[in-house]
Amino acid sequence: MAVPKSKISKSRRDKRRTHYKLNIPGMSVCPKCGEIKLPHRVCKSCGTYKDVNVMIED
Ligand SMILES: [Zn+2]
Repeated sequence: MAVPKSKISKSRRDKRRTHYKLNIPGMSVCPKCGEIKLPHRVCKSCGTYKDVNVMIED
């Protein structure tokens, strides 16, 4: 069994964990309004996809 040679300090352990969960998995950020949206879907808040407005404007 592999045994770690020395204890990893709280600082090193926490530094490693800074990469954990920076954003919600399976979600992307809208480049236009910055809102969290599903990837390859139209943004719910501004109604754009690939810089094209696909919503009917009232
Ligand atoms: Zn948007």
